[in-house]
Amino acid sequence: MNPFLTAILLIVGFGLLAWSLARRFLPLTVMQQDIRWDAPLPRAGDVIKYGLGQFRFLQRFEWFHGLAHILIFWGALVVTINTIHVIGRGFVPGWHLPFFGHDHLGPAYAFAKDLFTLAVMTGCGLAFYNRVFNRPARMLHTPEALIILVWIFSMMLMDWLYSSTLFVLVPDHPEQQTSFLGVLGREMLAASGLTAADPMTARLHAVGFWGHLLLAFSFLNYLPYCKQFHEVTSLPALFLRSRKPAGTLARQDFEDEDAIFGVGKIEEFSWKRGLDMYSCAECGRCQANCPAHLTGKPLSPMRLIMDEREHLKDKTPLMWRAALARRREGPEASAALLEQWEGPALAGGVIEEDVIWSCTTCGHCITNCPLMIEHVDHIIDLRRYLVQVESRFPKELRQTFKGFENMSNPWGLASNTRGDWMAALSETGAPAVPHPENKPRFDYLFYVGCAGSFDDRYRKTTMATARLLQAAGVDFVCLGNDEMCCGETARRAGNEYLAQHLINFNLEMFDTMGVKKIITACPHCFNTFKNEYPQFGKTFEVIHHTEMIRDLIGKGALGPLRSFAGNGPVVFHDPCYLGRYNRIYDAPREIAQCVPGVRLVEAERRKRISFCCGGGGARMWMEENIGTRINAERCDQLRATGAKTIATACPYCMIMLDDAIKDKGLADEIKIMDLAQMVDAAMVKHKKHK
Ligand code: SF4
Ligand code: SF4
Repeated sequence: MNPFLTAILLIVGFGLLAWSLARRFLPLTVMQQDIRWDAPLPRAGDVIKYGLGQFRFLQRFEWFHGLAHILIFWGALVVTINTIHVIGRGFVPGWHLPFFGHDHLGPAYAFAKDLFTLAVMTGCGLAFYNRVFNRPARMLHTPEALIILVWIFSMMLMDWLYSSTLFVLVPDHPEQQTSFLGVLGREMLAASGLTAADPMTARLHAVGFWGHLLLAFSFLNYLPYCKQFHEVTSLPALFLRSRKPAGTLARQDFEDEDAIFGVGKIEEFSWKRGLDMYSCAECGRCQANCPAHLTGKPLSPMRLIMDEREHLKDKTPLMWRAALARRREGPEASAALLEQWEGPALAGGVIEEDVIWSCTTCGHCITNCPLMIEHVDHIIDLRRYLVQVESRFPKELRQTFKGFENMSNPWGLASNTRGDWMAALSETGAPAVPHPENKPRFDYLFYVGCAGSFDDRYRKTTMATARLLQAAGVDFVCLGNDEMCCGETARRAGNEYLAQHLINFNLEMFDTMGVKKIITACPHCFNTFKNEYPQFGKTFEVIHHTEMIRDLIGKGALGPLRSFAGNGPVVFHDPCYLGRYNRIYDAPREIAQCVPGVRLVEAERRKRISFCCGGGGARMWMEENIGTRINAERCDQLRATGAKTIATACPYCMIMLDDAIKDKGLADEIKIMDLAQMVDAAMVKHKKHK
C-alpha cells in the first residue's frame, strides 16, 4: 500500500487523538488527590475478573445484552492485533508483529482472528437487535449507540474484504491454511468472477485496507467525545477502583485544615471520580433496579453520572487553564481561575436537590455497575456539602439531627427511656439483661440500636433476640440507657460531623467497657460497626443476629422448635445492608427453613438484586412526596409471591413494609415479622415467658 498516505494517516490520527486525550485528562489534575495504586496484585486481579472476565455482564435480569458485550469486547481485543498488522502492511507488505509469523503464532492467530471477527459481528448483531426490538427499559435509546454498532460491524467487514481480496491476489498466501473467513470470502469473490489479474480485485483490496484504517482511526478519534470512551478508560478505572468494602463511606478528616466538607463543585471530587464519569458506558445497569428511579423519583444513578460528566466537559476549558496555571504559577493561581466559573453550581444546580435526597443508599447501582462506579459516594459527598456548608436539607431532617444531638436517636425521644425494653423483657419472666458495669467480663455486647430501643414493632425483635441469646446461654450485656446511636443515619444524611461525634463517643465507651464482639439485629448498625468503625481505629467482631441465631440452632443450643403458626408461605425480604452490602443471604433463609412448617418462597427481586424497602440513606425520616412509595412497591413485589408472612431481619425494612401493609389495608392478609420473632415464637421451652 502507499507508505506516504499511511504515515499521514498515522500522524493525523494519533496527533488528534493525543490532543483529545489531553483535553479529557489534563482537567482531572485540578481535581482532588486520591491514592489508588496500593495493592497492585489484587487490583490486577480485579482487572482480570471484572474487566477481561466481564464478570458483571451475565446478570440474571439482563444476560442478552451482556452476552453481546462480551462477544464484542473479547473480539475487539483479538482483532486489534490485526489492525496493527494492517497498519504495518501500509509500509511493508506482509508485515506482522514479532512471533506472529507463519512459523510461530501466525496460523493460530489467523484462525483466532477470524473466529473473533465473527464474534464481534455476532455481538453487534445481537446488540443491534436488542436495542431495536427488545428496547430494554434500563438503556438510553439513542441513535449514537446504533451508529457505533454499525461502525464496529463495518470495520469487521472491511477487514474481511481486505483478507479475502488478499487471498485472491496472492493465491499461495500462507494464512489461507487457517483463515477460514478469508477463504470463504476468496471463494465468494471467485464465484463472482474476480481473479488476481482483474483490476477490480486490487481496487477492492485497497477499499478493504483503507476502509479498515479510516474507520479504525475515525472511531479512535470519536471515542473521547462519546459514551464509547469507556473503551479507553474502563480497564484503568477498574485497576484504580476503590478497595474499601462496599457500603463504606469515606471518612472526612476534620483535623485537616485543607479538608473539603463534601463536594459543591466538580473539581472537589477526586480525579478518580472524574475518570469514572468518563468511563460510564450509559448501559443503565445501575438504574435497572434503583428503587428511586423505578418509583418515579428524579434520581437515576446513570443520569447522575452522565450529568456530572457533561458538567465536567462544560467546565473543561476553565479546568484546562487552571491545570496549566497550576504547573506554571502554583495552586493559588489555579484556584483563582476556577473561582471564575459563572455557570451553574454542581450541588443543587446541575444535580438538583431532589435528586440528591432521593437516594436510599441501597447500593444496587454500585453492585451492578460493570465499571464499579461508586454512585452512593457521589451522592453522599453532595449531601455533605449541602448539609455542612450550605445548611440546606429537607426540613424533616432538622428534627432528626436535633434528635441525634440532644437524645442520640432520630426521633428525639428521651434517652433515659432507651433501655425501657429491658424492663418490658423482665416482665415476660425472662432474666434481667446485665449492664457491663455490673458484669465487667462478658463475651458479647448486644447493641440494640435506635429502632430496636424505641420503635414498638422492633422492640419485639429486640426482646425476642435477647430471649434467644439467654435461652442459648450466650454471655452478653446491653447498654440500656447508656447506649448511643451508632451514627449511621447522620452519616448517610450527610451530617458527617454529627456522625463522627456519635462514633467517637461510642468508641470511647466501648473501649472503657472492653467491648470486643458485638451482636446487632440491625444491618445498618452491623455495617457501620463492621465496615466503618475501623476507619476510626477500632475493629470489632460484629455478628448479625441472623448469623448468631443460625449458628445457635445449628449447634443445638436453641430448640426444640414448634410448628410455625403462620397461615401460608413465607417470603424473606433481603435488607440491602445485610445482603447486598455484606453478602449475608443464606443465614436468614437457613433460619426460616429450620422452623417446622415454614414454606419459604422467593421474590423475583431477591438476594443481590433485592429491592429496597425505601428506608435507608436516612430516607425513613424524610417525606416521600414524589412518585409512588418505595415501600408500597416492595410490598406488592413480596405479595406477588403468594406469601402470607414477610420475614425480614432489619428494623427499617420492618417499619417501612409494615407501614405499606397498613396503608394498603392488608393487615389481615399478610404479616411481617423478624426472623428472631419467628424462632422465639417457635421455641417450646421459654414460651411461658411471653
Ligand atoms: S443507592 Fe439505590 S437508591 Fe441510591 S442511586 Fe443507587 S440504586 Fe438508586
Ligand atoms: S454508571 Fe455504570 S451501570 Fe450505570 S450506566 Fe454507567 S456504566 Fe452503566
